[in-house]
Amino acid sequence: MELLEYPHPILSKKCDYVEFGDPTVKDLTAEMVGKLYEWNGAGLAAPQVGVSKRVIVIDTRQEPKTVYVMVNPSILLASEEMVESYEGCLSLPLLRATVLRHSSVVLEYLDAAFERHELEADGFLACCLQHELDHLDGMVYIDRLSRWKRAKAIREYTKLRKMESGFSPGMDEGICI
Ligand SMILES: [Zn+2]
Repeated sequence: MELLEYPHPILSKKCDYVEFGDPTVKDLTAEMVGKLYEWNGAGLAAPQVGVSKRVIVIDTRQEPKTVYVMVNPSILLASEEMVESYEGCLSLPLLRATVLRHSSVVLEYLDAAFERHELEADGFLACCLQHELDHLDGMVYIDRLSRWKRAKAIREYTKLRKMESGFSPGMDEGICI
């Protein structure tokens, strides 16, 4: 399982829904959780490891410690109130940018055993969830920026990548989602 970096084409592809009972989900999610910690991220979406399926794992590293494994997550409700979210992404090493997110969301999802859950989230968790769900729709966070700011972010990213050698993902300043 390898981390794909922007602009890998899989990262801009809309992911497929997981078929109910798909036997590959258990191993996929277990491996993704392992990678989430290995790469020191707060969240990881399946397309980031080359699997174009609607699966995400999240651990915001807040107390109480919770690992969310979500299959086919979808947002049921999103607050009108928006917040500024300062984000990074494992697939865009070194770059950081501020995007707008809903301050709270309610979502439904299946766990790795295909049990249905609903979750109401706010704060960093809500931002993480929106960031990961965007990955499932083929979006990275800089796609949420205005056209001008996005172009600037891509220039900065290209420059940072040229400067950096031997970079290990997720180990720079701040946590990536
Ligand atoms: Zn990301």
